[in-house]
Amino acid sequence: MSPFKDLRESSPNDSLFDLPPLAMDGPGLARDFQHYYAHNFGRDRDCRSSYYPYKALAVALRDRLMERWKSTRAAQDVANCKRTHYLSLEFLMGRAMSNALMNLGLAEGAAKNLHDMGLILEEIEAAEMDAGLGNGGLGRLAACFLDSCATLQLPVKGYGLRYEYGMFRQLIENGHQVEEPDHWLRDGVPWELERPEYTQRIRFGGRTEDYTDEHGRPHKRWVDTNNVLAVPYDIPIPGYLNDTVNTLRLWSAAATDEFDLGEFNAGSYPESVAAKNDAEHITMVLYPNDANECGKELRLRQQYFLASASIKDVMRDWIRLHGKDFTHFAEKNCFQLNDTHPAVSVPELMRQLMDEHYLEWKDAWAITSQTMAYTNHTLLPEALERWPVRLFAQLLPRLLEIIYEINARFLSEVAGRWPGDMDRQRRMSLIEEGDDPQVRMAFLAIVGSFSVNGVAALHSELLIRGLFRDFYELWPDKFNNKTNGVTPRRWLAMCNPGLRELLNDTIGEDWVNDLSLLERLAPSAEDAAMRERWDKIKQSNKERVATMVKAACDVDFPTEFLFDVQVKRIHEYKRQLLNVLHLIYLYARIKRGEDLGTPRCTLFGGKAAPGYEMAKRIIKLINNVAAVVNADPKVNKQLRIAFIPDYRVSVMEVLAPGTDLSEQISTAGKEASGTGNMKFMMNGALTIGTLDGANIEIRDKVGDENFFLFGLTAEEVERTRGHYDPNGIIASSPALAETMALLESGHFCQFEQGIFDPIIHSIRDPNDPWLTAADFDSYRQTQEQVAEAYQDRERWLRMSMLNTAHSGYFSSDRTIAEYNRDIWRLDPVRPPAPGKR
Ligand SMILES: *Cc1c(COP(=O)(O)O)cnc(C)c1O
Repeated sequence: MSPFKDLRESSPNDSLFDLPPLAMDGPGLARDFQHYYAHNFGRDRDCRSSYYPYKALAVALRDRLMERWKSTRAAQDVANCKRTHYLSLEFLMGRAMSNALMNLGLAEGAAKNLHDMGLILEEIEAAEMDAGLGNGGLGRLAACFLDSCATLQLPVKGYGLRYEYGMFRQLIENGHQVEEPDHWLRDGVPWELERPEYTQRIRFGGRTEDYTDEHGRPHKRWVDTNNVLAVPYDIPIPGYLNDTVNTLRLWSAAATDEFDLGEFNAGSYPESVAAKNDAEHITMVLYPNDANECGKELRLRQQYFLASASIKDVMRDWIRLHGKDFTHFAEKNCFQLNDTHPAVSVPELMRQLMDEHYLEWKDAWAITSQTMAYTNHTLLPEALERWPVRLFAQLLPRLLEIIYEINARFLSEVAGRWPGDMDRQRRMSLIEEGDDPQVRMAFLAIVGSFSVNGVAALHSELLIRGLFRDFYELWPDKFNNKTNGVTPRRWLAMCNPGLRELLNDTIGEDWVNDLSLLERLAPSAEDAAMRERWDKIKQSNKERVATMVKAACDVDFPTEFLFDVQVKRIHEYKRQLLNVLHLIYLYARIKRGEDLGTPRCTLFGGKAAPGYEMAKRIIKLINNVAAVVNADPKVNKQLRIAFIPDYRVSVMEVLAPGTDLSEQISTAGKEASGTGNMKFMMNGALTIGTLDGANIEIRDKVGDENFFLFGLTAEEVERTRGHYDPNGIIASSPALAETMALLESGHFCQFEQGIFDPIIHSIRDPNDPWLTAADFDSYRQTQEQVAEAYQDRERWLRMSMLNTAHSGYFSSDRTIAEYNRDIWRLDPVRPPAPGKR
């Protein structure tokens, strides 16, 4: 199976690895950079491309990561430590270079020494494409978690898929979203290391059969399958200044060398070679749906491919270290499931333990149910994964048998606890009965796990009161909350160098590892000179935003205006529509000669799922309103609007530091947590937001006087169901009535009559789940408070500083410390520094 033969005559000894440690300073890095640039990539004076300097620097950095990568792995083996395997269909990593430079402590040295050669580090960093293997918050959370695990020196490995095409690139043409494929692997990714020696074989299809082994014990086997190879590619995950480098292992699908001889003999050699191509399609493309299940067979294939390959990889490593005795497996391993996407891991671990390692059900179940932990990411019913039983039967017949057995045993436990309560058994069954029975993946994940968590306090509370109520009654101790966080390395130290320097000067440098120390900044909010410095930094960060917006949208953003930003996936529950309605209202006020007091630049960004028509229409509305506003010389003195195309991690790295006002305006009870809210807060933006997700905790930490709250509560939203009257609300609100009238007049679609009718109908629909009309007046009034607060420069700056000062809780280091304390219970492993072995 491995393409490599073992050496026959030679036997390498330790001296092969007897290398001096690589220089960890600017000049040493620069020498290696020169070597790779000139000797490896063969560039000369004529080369003007920023791509080769990027490649050469990346390889020089990778050498340094590699030293620490090996010693981290060796130290984890020696420690015989417990490990966590973080399974996720998405890792939204963004760029790796600036992060590697910072975490290795080489950023300043590299900038200086490259500058001496006439090169600008930022320009080289900008040549790197984002690794966009995720949709939004869920995938970015996985990336922040890996950074925190490496920084806390926890033995955690990420497992994901190496999609050939990541999240699509978004163009805006005539105001419409246009999708282009993101072929991020085309020019090669210098960070990844192919590991063909760890290739795994994954099965699909076929059927199951019974057999008896030589001891007369009955077993099941899965036969007549179509097999696909899973080839791992490893990405290094450096911790912050600590010599730890953890691993993100991404699986790529490849055809086996097996061959349909029947077809070959029938003379269709090209056809049977071509058929092998199908295998490689599994990891071809990331599904671009956020908070929406997709129900496609290829997606289930992806999910099983990840689960099976990753568990096999863990088993291989276990056997390497412990042999085939699984007695202590559960003490030494934990699988954290990032949403239900990898939930098929539950029956897959059962299958491997029973069918491949011959454990009894009871022992296999004890291991499985003590190693799996599940994180829920959404309450939206349209996002809850269910797979048709018939699809399972066809694609994964052995897993379906195991799921049925898990369900039978589980339902008998329910019956034992609530005898005769058939309705409860029906509600809790892993199989939803009906014309087309479905497997409920969230319930499978709960039954198979020892821990189930939500991602913010409100979200976890709503889970146990609603969707998972029956399960909470059965197993209250399984359920817990882990409020999300973001890594302060990327989202503060790296993306906001001005603020980093100010913080280092005022509170020392330890905050990067202990973000709660930001509290020490709070007294400085009363210091006028500090506020002045704070203002300067924000101002220059706003200039970077303005430059980016000018280049991408050709709209001028004057930096003395309030910078108001809503960037996130475009989804009705996130209510970009509420924001744009308010902008239409401001436009009307300016047109009738009013002075807003505070001039404002509003920026939107985010991708709509290609099949989500309403979300795409909202993008079009934003762009049409922007065109009218920006082109009107009377209006644009007070209001500018832009939609930045292709919102992604590297764009957020510019936006978070240069934003004054962060828009977190989802319908209460719908946003599980949000993490964009945290990145903005850390960088000193004020939030206008509903009592939803982590906004609630943000407001608790910063104090209600430093947060702009509006809108219905989650309870009020629920109570509104059934007697919501948007048309009555519109009629009795002059501001909203005027806004709707202007929208309905066709003013923003003069040459495209009627294109916004579906949007208008959705606002006026008594069944509008997002209650846009209900929150309009509250939002408008709170925006007036924002405008007033911005007028008072000193007050605003004080509030801004306090937002940063109280943001420490939202470090993903805190989140990961809680996962480790309550769920994983891993000991940190400290590898020796290179050269100190
Ligand atoms: C942080 C982040 C998100 C999540 O944003 P929310 O506002 O929490 O939805 C999505 N996409 C990117 C690129 C991000 O950096």
